[in-house]
Amino acid sequence: MIRVINHITLKLFNTMSPTLAEKEPKTGLSIFESMEENEHEQIIVCSDPSSGLKAIIAIHNTVLGPSLGGVRMWPYESEQAALKDVLRLSRGMTYKAALAGLNLGGGKAVIIGNPKKDKKEAIFRAFGRYVEGLAGRYITAEDVGMSLQDMEWIRMETKYVTGISVALGGSGDPSPVTAMGVYMGMKATAKKVFGTDSLENRKISIQGAGNVSSHLARYLHKEGAKLYVTDIDEEKLDRLVRDTGAIAVDPDSIYDVDVDIFSPNALGGILNSDTIPRLKCAAVAGGANNQLDDESVHGPMLIERGILYTPDYVINAGGVINVSNELEGYNREYAHEQAARIYDTVTRILEYAETHNVPTYTASNNIAEMRLKQIGRIKSIYASRSHFTGRMGELVGRR
Ligand code: NAD
Repeated sequence: MIRVINHITLKLFNTMSPTLAEKEPKTGLSIFESMEENEHEQIIVCSDPSSGLKAIIAIHNTVLGPSLGGVRMWPYESEQAALKDVLRLSRGMTYKAALAGLNLGGGKAVIIGNPKKDKKEAIFRAFGRYVEGLAGRYITAEDVGMSLQDMEWIRMETKYVTGISVALGGSGDPSPVTAMGVYMGMKATAKKVFGTDSLENRKISIQGAGNVSSHLARYLHKEGAKLYVTDIDEEKLDRLVRDTGAIAVDPDSIYDVDVDIFSPNALGGILNSDTIPRLKCAAVAGGANNQLDDESVHGPMLIERGILYTPDYVINAGGVINVSNELEGYNREYAHEQAARIYDTVTRILEYAETHNVPTYTASNNIAEMRLKQIGRIKSIYASRSHFTGRMGELVGRR
């Protein structure tokens, strides 16, 4: 039944190109060594003692366009831990944008502080001024630990912010578009595994009844899938069960349900040594970030169990697709259209994995790197006379 991965042996992993996880930033390196190791372009360390701002902005790659990625506020235990996180997250954004076909690079920012205690207007406005100073090389957005109010403070100091509310001219909550991308990616996964992309009567378990999962569940319900849903928040779970006729499952039992597809849409790290042996599904396709606890260990473990894994950063790209649309004037219909193309991207990745005999996450990394290389190369073709300010500039101007 699972045609993609049956033929992949574990021996193969010794000869594969490094995975994203294997390229995880190492600790104990100097800043320049860390940057070289992960091919980062620029790190901006922002310190403003008067407001208390301590932040790091990492620009990983701008071959495709300005770097875009959220800002996260977190009480990191050390500056090294904050640096490691921002390097890892910014590189992830390069891959996500590249695969989504966007003309955006990868960037991310972290503010060191406790979001429950340390928030104040001046911190976010100071951060906004640093972003503005980068003149568009880094565009920020909301991430973990940030609220709408914090983003509005940032926006008071810079125009380089996306994902702001509709009332302020932004695109608002990205989760409906993320969910549509996950739905389309799940259909492409089903096509590969079952030979048809119809999800009618397919048994699908969903972890989470939050923003992404509730929209996803509605798409799946409409198509006639049989749903099993869980959440630690009983109110959200009850609402989703009422709306979709899903069967409610205990949070810890979601890994044991016998289904066709398991869709994680809550937490990261949930595909691990405890949960993978319990899974009873043919495929994993969900929107949660960083689902594999350790890609180099748990990726192979899934393959060994004959479970096809659709890489999270490919299937959940609807969010970044949505905010990227703000840069050219937001159009919800077009954002949905673009997110629907995740079907084709997933199909291409699964085909590549089969043809090249590599795991699906290696396939997605390779395809992203290919686009970066190819577009980087065409950018070396001379195509503009705008930098001539003399006679040639005037000639161009007269046309
Ligand atoms: P959300 O907070 O609205 O939903 C997450 C839900 O998971 C919550 O209802 C929470 O109660 C539940 N949950 C937490 N721990 C749980 C557990 N142990 N078992 C079951 N349920 C649990 O968040 P969201 O916006 O729907 O995002 C979900 C995931 O998708 C996250 O990993 C997020 O990073 C990722 N993601 C979201 C978007 C987006 O557009 N919102 C885009 C890309 C990726």
